[in-house]
Amino acid sequence: MVNSISVLGSTGSIGTQTLDVAEKLHISVCALTAYSNIDLLEKQIRKFRPKLAVVFLEEQAQKLKERIKDTKTCVMSGMKGLISAAEIDSADIVLNALVGMVGLEPTLRAVEAKKNIALANKETLVAGGSLVMNAVTKNGVHLYPVDSEHSAVFQCLQGRPDEKSLKKIILTASGGPFFGKTKSELENVTLAQALNHPNWSMGAKITIDSATMMNKGLEIIEAYWLFGVDADQIDVVVHRESIVHSMIMYRDNSVIAQLGLPDMRIPIQYALTYPGRFESPTGELDLSQVENLSFSKPDYDTFKCMSLCKKALKIGGTAPAIVNGANETANRLFREDRIKFLQIGDLVENALENVAVTKADTLAQVLQADKSAREFVLSAVK
Ligand code: NDP
Ligand code: MG
Repeated sequence: MVNSISVLGSTGSIGTQTLDVAEKLHISVCALTAYSNIDLLEKQIRKFRPKLAVVFLEEQAQKLKERIKDTKTCVMSGMKGLISAAEIDSADIVLNALVGMVGLEPTLRAVEAKKNIALANKETLVAGGSLVMNAVTKNGVHLYPVDSEHSAVFQCLQGRPDEKSLKKIILTASGGPFFGKTKSELENVTLAQALNHPNWSMGAKITIDSATMMNKGLEIIEAYWLFGVDADQIDVVVHRESIVHSMIMYRDNSVIAQLGLPDMRIPIQYALTYPGRFESPTGELDLSQVENLSFSKPDYDTFKCMSLCKKALKIGGTAPAIVNGANETANRLFREDRIKFLQIGDLVENALENVAVTKADTLAQVLQADKSAREFVLSAVK
């Protein structure tokens, strides 16, 4: 088990649940970061007494500095601050719970500083998968998945005899709030309806990604990089109850699944205690109370973001970064009530068709693809 952790994005859904796990396991916290929520960050600082606190927005960082003058915590801001939190000496693991591409550089810098990573920030792997995985190998560190599906796969893979034995990965998808709806029924859905996820309480961006099922598309790409399988070896099955968190099939057709209540503290804790198992902060799963476990095929046509991610993975290079950047922008525009729900998929599709794909070997190439995709979406909605 780790002794000390740096939590990037500590004020978010995953960040706060990570601190809950850390507190129960008596893991010390050496760095915390937020974008602007200094009220919550101040409470976290007073409780966990980290060496470093980062507020991305400079103005809010100055306010926080004033407020916590009586503590020993040093305050920084911007990307420089995030990188300092990622590289901080005292951390033996960095849990990245930032949302979006802003997490890519801190992940890379943490890996280069020989830190193990617990990764929730899936956009990092989607856009910069080859960069991140090459850096992980080169620096001899471990990258532990926090995303529930990938934690499930990782758990199922424990004890596998050899690389060749894995036949496929079967990711489960809740289907989100709009499962079973037709395109015409999705035409005028509202933000409030899209934010109403049936099983999980999460940050706004990923909740919208779950409604479009872009989230599952991103997770296909995430699985590709984490587990070194071909795109064709990753299947998705809709499982409305979110009890089976994902499965693997071995070549003898034996299927192994990981089950549990839908509570992110289980995968977060496993990433921090691997390979150990400790008492859980969450409730026990009582299968006799779960009436039904259902499984069905996803609707790749209505929820085309999933297909677009598969397509981007096959194209390779910066195509996944383009899909991710376009989605981050379209997702935000929908949350700002500037586009309709179905436009998210249309914009991602148009970006993938129109933005030039290059190699994705350097950070500059990935960041440029991301920027071009964002610009494409913004100019398309003008
Ligand atoms: P939240 O929106 O709840 O939290 C995001 C965190 O990052 C907050 O601390 C926020 O600060 C900070 N942040 C946001 N934008 C920036 C920025 N531009 N620069 C610096 N800091 C920023 O997100 P979630 O916790 O839901 O998700 C985090 C990541 O984990 C995402 O990649 C998501 O896909 C993934 N994930 C989440 C799951 C969940 O259950 N929530 C499940 C599986 C994966 P502030 O509070 O000040 O805004
Ligand atoms: Mg997930």
